[in-house]
Amino acid sequence: MKTDPDCIFCKIVAGDVPCTKLLEDDSALAFLDIGPLAVGHALLIPKAHYETVEQMPAELAGAVLKHLPALAAAVRKATGCEGLNVLQNNGRVAHQVVPHVHFHLIPRSPGDAFHFNWPAGKYEEGQIERLAESIRSHL
Ligand code: AMP
Ligand code: ZN
Repeated sequence: MKTDPDCIFCKIVAGDVPCTKLLEDDSALAFLDIGPLAVGHALLIPKAHYETVEQMPAELAGAVLKHLPALAAAVRKATGCEGLNVLQNNGRVAHQVVPHVHFHLIPRSPGDAFHFNWPAGKYEEGQIERLAESIRSHL
């Protein structure tokens, strides 16, 4: 399994750094975030060290994300939150601080302190089709 001795989440996987564990199997681990954006903020990670989501083998992504529905439901029931954001940051520019793939589950309540800036834009004529073609060509 890929691991990085300097990575805080690899140290948690190895048991060298403690965590408040929520679930675990051969591929995945979930635990509570120590700097929660809301009470119950949880992290779901692959046990293997991959820095960004596009570097993960597809089978591993499936093995990790299969836990998402049950984990989200459990966090919602335990916290009584009204909604929940699943957030996954890739790269410093995208606010990734820990370079080990992790999915945030962030409980949401009306009037809570977590806000998005969501500056929705518009495409020029024909731009959306050209862009889709380019993305499809890279799949
Ligand atoms: P990100 O900005 O997406 O890289 O988020 C990293 C998250 O990891 C932050 O929300 C931190 O609070 C959390 N975090 C860092 N170290 C630990 C740790 N030892 N145990 C639990 N959560 C951690
Ligand atoms: Zn790691």
